[in-house]
Amino acid sequence: MRTPIVAGNWKMNGSRGAVEDLVSGIRDQLDAALIAEGPAAGQGKTQVILCPPAIYIPQVCAAVDGSALAVGAQNAAAQEKGAYTGEISPAFLADFGVHHVILGHSERRQLFNESDQLVAEKFALAQKLGLIPVLCVGETRAERESDQTIAVVTRQLQAVIDKVGVAAFGSAIVAYEPVWAIGTGLTATPEQAQEVHRNIRELISSQDASVGDGVRLLYGGSVKAANAEELFRCPDIDGGLIGGASLDPSEFVAICQAAVK
Ligand code: PEP
Repeated sequence: MRTPIVAGNWKMNGSRGAVEDLVSGIRDQLDAALIAEGPAAGQGKTQVILCPPAIYIPQVCAAVDGSALAVGAQNAAAQEKGAYTGEISPAFLADFGVHHVILGHSERRQLFNESDQLVAEKFALAQKLGLIPVLCVGETRAERESDQTIAVVTRQLQAVIDKVGVAAFGSAIVAYEPVWAIGTGLTATPEQAQEVHRNIRELISSQDASVGDGVRLLYGGSVKAANAEELFRCPDIDGGLIGGASLDPSEFVAICQAAVK
Protein backbone atom coordinates (compact mmCIF):
# COMPACT_ATOMS: atom_id res chain seq x y z
CA MET A 1 0.00 0.00 0.00
CA ARG A 2 1.38 3.40 -1.04
CA THR A 3 0.77 6.18 1.49
CA PRO A 4 -0.91 9.00 -0.46
CA ILE A 5 0.54 12.49 -0.69
CA VAL A 6 -1.08 15.89 -1.10
CA ALA A 7 1.30 18.76 -1.83
CA GLY A 8 0.24 22.41 -1.99
CA ASN A 9 2.13 24.53 -4.53
CA TRP A 10 1.49 28.10 -3.42
CA LYS A 11 3.38 29.46 -6.45
CA MET A 12 4.33 33.16 -6.14
CA ASN A 13 1.60 34.06 -3.67
CA GLY A 14 1.67 35.19 -0.08
CA SER A 15 2.72 37.73 2.48
CA ARG A 16 3.82 37.15 6.08
CA GLY A 17 0.27 37.66 7.27
CA ALA A 18 -1.28 35.45 4.57
CA VAL A 19 1.25 32.68 5.27
CA GLU A 20 0.45 32.78 8.97
CA ASP A 21 -3.30 32.61 8.28
CA LEU A 22 -2.94 29.82 5.73
CA VAL A 23 -0.81 27.52 7.89
CA SER A 24 -2.91 28.11 10.99
CA GLY A 25 -6.10 27.53 8.96
CA ILE A 26 -4.73 24.22 7.72
CA ARG A 27 -3.52 23.18 11.16
CA ASP A 28 -6.86 24.07 12.74
CA GLN A 29 -8.95 22.18 10.20
CA LEU A 30 -6.82 19.19 9.30
CA ASP A 31 -7.23 16.28 11.67
CA ALA A 32 -3.67 15.72 12.90
CA ALA A 33 -4.35 11.98 13.14
CA LEU A 34 -4.64 11.80 9.35
CA ILE A 35 -1.22 13.23 8.58
CA ALA A 36 1.54 10.73 7.90
CA GLU A 37 5.08 11.44 9.08
CA GLY A 38 6.68 9.52 6.26
CA PRO A 39 6.04 7.27 3.27
CA ALA A 40 5.46 4.05 5.24
CA ALA A 41 2.57 5.22 7.39
CA GLY A 42 0.02 2.79 5.94
CA GLN A 43 -3.75 2.96 5.92
CA GLY A 44 -5.78 5.96 7.00
CA LYS A 45 -3.00 8.50 6.64
CA THR A 46 -1.77 10.94 4.02
CA GLN A 47 1.48 12.87 3.74
CA VAL A 48 0.86 16.61 3.45
CA ILE A 49 3.53 18.91 2.05
CA LEU A 50 3.32 22.71 1.92
CA CYS A 51 5.44 24.39 -0.77
CA PRO A 52 5.59 28.15 -0.13
CA PRO A 53 7.69 30.70 -2.02
CA ALA A 54 11.31 30.21 -0.92
CA ILE A 55 11.53 33.35 1.18
CA TYR A 56 8.66 32.16 3.37
CA ILE A 57 10.17 28.69 3.98
CA PRO A 58 11.64 29.54 7.42
CA GLN A 59 8.32 31.05 8.50
CA VAL A 60 6.40 27.97 7.36
CA CYS A 61 8.94 25.61 8.97
CA ALA A 62 8.38 27.42 12.26
CA ALA A 63 4.60 27.43 11.83
CA VAL A 64 4.37 23.67 11.17
CA ASP A 65 6.67 22.82 14.07
CA GLY A 66 5.15 20.13 16.28
CA SER A 67 2.91 18.84 13.49
CA ALA A 68 3.55 16.17 10.85
CA LEU A 69 3.13 18.71 8.04
CA ALA A 70 6.19 18.73 5.76
CA VAL A 71 7.66 21.69 3.91
CA GLY A 72 8.80 21.65 0.29
CA ALA A 73 10.33 24.12 -2.12
CA GLN A 74 9.04 25.02 -5.58
CA ASN A 75 12.40 24.96 -7.34
CA ALA A 76 16.13 24.70 -6.68
CA ALA A 77 19.31 25.48 -8.55
CA ALA A 78 21.25 22.94 -10.58
CA GLN A 79 24.44 24.07 -8.82
CA GLU A 80 25.37 23.56 -5.18
CA LYS A 81 27.20 26.87 -4.60
CA GLY A 82 29.19 29.65 -6.18
CA ALA A 83 28.69 32.59 -8.53
CA TYR A 84 25.02 32.05 -9.42
CA THR A 85 23.43 35.33 -8.33
CA GLY A 86 19.85 34.97 -7.22
CA GLU A 87 19.75 31.18 -7.23
CA ILE A 88 18.73 28.99 -4.30
CA SER A 89 20.91 25.95 -3.74
CA PRO A 90 19.26 22.69 -2.73
CA ALA A 91 21.89 22.66 0.04
CA PHE A 92 20.24 25.79 1.52
CA LEU A 93 16.85 24.08 1.44
CA ALA A 94 18.20 21.02 3.24
CA ASP A 95 19.89 23.32 5.73
CA PHE A 96 16.49 24.84 6.58
CA GLY A 97 14.81 21.46 7.15
CA VAL A 98 13.09 21.22 3.77
CA HIS A 99 12.59 17.62 2.61
CA HIS A 100 10.92 17.96 -0.79
CA VAL A 101 11.45 20.07 -3.88
CA ILE A 102 9.18 20.46 -6.91
CA LEU A 103 11.26 20.25 -10.08
CA GLY A 104 10.31 20.62 -13.73
CA HIS A 105 6.99 22.36 -13.08
CA SER A 106 5.52 23.34 -16.44
CA GLU A 107 5.69 27.03 -15.51
CA ARG A 108 9.46 26.62 -15.11
CA ARG A 109 9.75 24.60 -18.31
CA GLN A 110 7.69 27.11 -20.31
CA LEU A 111 8.40 30.52 -18.75
CA PHE A 112 12.02 29.92 -17.72
CA ASN A 113 13.05 27.62 -20.58
CA GLU A 114 14.01 24.70 -18.36
CA SER A 115 14.96 21.80 -20.62
CA ASP A 116 14.60 18.09 -19.84
CA GLN A 117 18.39 18.03 -19.34
CA LEU A 118 18.40 20.93 -16.87
CA VAL A 119 15.54 19.36 -14.91
CA ALA A 120 17.51 16.10 -14.79
CA GLU A 121 20.58 17.94 -13.46
CA LYS A 122 18.48 19.65 -10.78
CA PHE A 123 16.94 16.29 -9.85
CA ALA A 124 20.36 14.64 -9.52
CA LEU A 125 21.81 17.38 -7.33
CA ALA A 126 18.71 17.75 -5.13
CA GLN A 127 18.72 14.03 -4.45
CA LYS A 128 22.45 13.95 -3.81
CA LEU A 129 21.91 16.62 -1.16
CA GLY A 130 19.16 14.64 0.56
CA LEU A 131 16.00 16.20 -0.89
CA ILE A 132 13.08 14.24 -2.34
CA PRO A 133 12.30 15.56 -5.82
CA VAL A 134 8.70 15.94 -6.95
CA LEU A 135 9.28 15.65 -10.68
CA CYS A 136 6.55 17.27 -12.80
CA VAL A 137 5.76 15.99 -16.26
CA GLY A 138 2.90 16.75 -18.62
CA GLU A 139 1.81 17.62 -22.10
CA THR A 140 0.44 20.82 -23.63
CA ARG A 141 -2.99 20.99 -25.19
CA ALA A 142 -1.47 20.87 -28.71
CA GLU A 143 0.55 17.80 -27.75
CA ARG A 144 -2.55 16.04 -26.41
CA GLU A 145 -4.54 16.97 -29.50
CA SER A 146 -1.83 15.51 -31.72
CA ASP A 147 -1.71 12.28 -29.70
CA GLN A 148 1.72 13.03 -28.24
CA THR A 149 0.80 12.76 -24.55
CA ILE A 150 2.51 9.48 -23.74
CA ALA A 151 5.53 10.29 -25.92
CA VAL A 152 6.06 13.67 -24.19
CA VAL A 153 5.67 12.31 -20.67
CA THR A 154 7.95 9.36 -21.50
CA ARG A 155 10.61 11.73 -22.90
CA GLN A 156 10.49 13.99 -19.82
CA LEU A 157 10.71 11.05 -17.42
CA GLN A 158 13.30 9.06 -19.36
CA ALA A 159 15.62 12.12 -19.47
CA VAL A 160 15.80 11.93 -15.67
CA ILE A 161 16.12 8.14 -15.61
CA ASP A 162 19.00 8.37 -18.11
CA LYS A 163 20.78 10.82 -15.82
CA VAL A 164 20.23 9.23 -12.39
CA GLY A 165 19.09 5.65 -13.05
CA VAL A 166 15.65 4.21 -12.34
CA ALA A 167 16.54 3.26 -8.74
CA ALA A 168 16.53 7.00 -7.93
CA PHE A 169 12.73 6.88 -8.16
CA GLY A 170 12.77 4.78 -5.00
CA SER A 171 13.07 8.13 -3.22
CA ALA A 172 11.30 10.51 -5.56
CA ILE A 173 7.74 11.44 -6.45
CA VAL A 174 6.32 12.05 -9.92
CA ALA A 175 3.52 14.52 -10.58
CA TYR A 176 1.57 14.22 -13.83
CA GLU A 177 0.33 17.72 -14.60
CA PRO A 178 -1.24 18.25 -18.01
CA VAL A 179 -0.28 21.82 -18.90
CA TRP A 180 -3.74 22.54 -20.27
CA ALA A 181 -5.26 21.73 -16.87
CA ILE A 182 -3.00 23.91 -14.71
CA GLY A 183 -4.77 26.98 -13.38
CA THR A 184 -7.39 26.76 -16.13
CA GLY A 185 -10.27 25.14 -14.27
CA LEU A 186 -10.07 22.28 -16.78
CA THR A 187 -9.31 18.94 -15.17
CA ALA A 188 -8.27 15.71 -16.83
CA THR A 189 -11.01 13.14 -16.47
CA PRO A 190 -10.15 10.29 -14.11
CA GLU A 191 -9.84 8.05 -17.20
CA GLN A 192 -7.40 10.46 -18.92
CA ALA A 193 -5.32 10.88 -15.78
CA GLN A 194 -5.31 7.16 -14.94
CA GLU A 195 -4.16 6.27 -18.46
CA VAL A 196 -1.10 8.51 -18.17
CA HIS A 197 -0.38 7.44 -14.59
CA ARG A 198 -0.53 3.79 -15.64
CA ASN A 199 1.92 4.48 -18.45
CA ILE A 200 4.29 6.28 -16.07
CA ARG A 201 4.21 3.39 -13.62
CA GLU A 202 4.70 0.87 -16.43
CA LEU A 203 7.69 2.80 -17.78
CA ILE A 204 9.36 2.71 -14.36
CA SER A 205 8.27 -0.87 -13.63
CA SER A 206 9.65 -2.10 -16.94
CA GLN A 207 13.08 -0.96 -15.69
CA ASP A 208 12.63 -1.93 -12.01
CA ALA A 209 9.42 -3.64 -10.91
CA SER A 210 9.67 -2.86 -7.21
CA VAL A 211 10.54 0.81 -7.77
CA GLY A 212 7.57 1.08 -10.16
CA ASP A 213 5.27 -0.51 -7.62
CA GLY A 214 6.31 1.84 -4.81
CA VAL A 215 6.71 5.21 -6.51
CA ARG A 216 3.98 7.72 -5.63
CA LEU A 217 2.37 9.35 -8.68
CA LEU A 218 0.44 12.57 -8.05
CA TYR A 219 -2.09 14.21 -10.35
CA GLY A 220 -2.06 18.00 -10.70
CA GLY A 221 -4.28 20.32 -12.72
CA SER A 222 -7.24 22.20 -11.26
CA VAL A 223 -7.83 19.69 -8.48
CA LYS A 224 -10.44 20.93 -6.02
CA ALA A 225 -12.48 19.42 -3.22
CA ALA A 226 -15.27 18.65 -5.67
CA ASN A 227 -13.20 16.50 -8.04
CA ALA A 228 -10.40 15.16 -5.81
CA GLU A 229 -12.09 11.99 -4.65
CA GLU A 230 -12.86 10.59 -8.10
CA LEU A 231 -9.30 11.29 -9.24
CA PHE A 232 -7.69 9.82 -6.13
CA ARG A 233 -9.82 6.67 -6.47
CA CYS A 234 -7.92 5.70 -9.64
CA PRO A 235 -5.53 2.82 -8.98
CA ASP A 236 -2.35 4.60 -10.11
CA ILE A 237 -3.12 8.03 -8.65
CA ASP A 238 -1.55 8.37 -5.21
CA GLY A 239 -2.61 11.91 -4.36
CA GLY A 240 -2.31 15.38 -5.83
CA LEU A 241 -0.16 18.41 -6.45
CA ILE A 242 -2.51 21.29 -5.80
CA GLY A 243 -2.04 24.88 -7.00
CA GLY A 244 -4.88 27.38 -6.66
CA ALA A 245 -6.95 25.33 -4.22
CA SER A 246 -3.98 25.01 -1.83
CA LEU A 247 -4.37 28.71 -0.97
CA ASP A 248 -7.75 28.09 0.63
CA PRO A 249 -7.45 26.15 3.90
CA SER A 250 -10.94 24.58 3.72
CA GLU A 251 -10.50 23.44 0.12
CA PHE A 252 -7.00 22.15 0.77
CA VAL A 253 -8.01 20.26 3.89
CA ALA A 254 -10.96 18.68 2.05
CA ILE A 255 -8.56 17.55 -0.69
CA CYS A 256 -6.20 16.05 1.91
CA GLN A 257 -9.12 14.17 3.42
CA ALA A 258 -10.14 12.87 -0.01
CA ALA A 259 -6.68 11.32 -0.40
CA VAL A 260 -6.91 9.22 2.73
CA LYS A 261 -7.57 5.63 1.71
C1 PEP B 1 0.19 23.50 -10.08
O1 PEP B 1 0.57 24.65 -10.18
O2 PEP B 1 1.02 22.59 -9.86
C2 PEP B 1 -1.24 23.22 -10.24
C3 PEP B 1 -1.63 21.97 -10.34
O3 PEP B 1 -2.07 24.30 -10.27
P1 PEP B 1 -3.70 24.30 -10.22
O4 PEP B 1 -4.10 23.31 -9.17
O5 PEP B 1 -4.05 25.69 -9.87
O6 PEP B 1 -4.16 23.88 -11.57
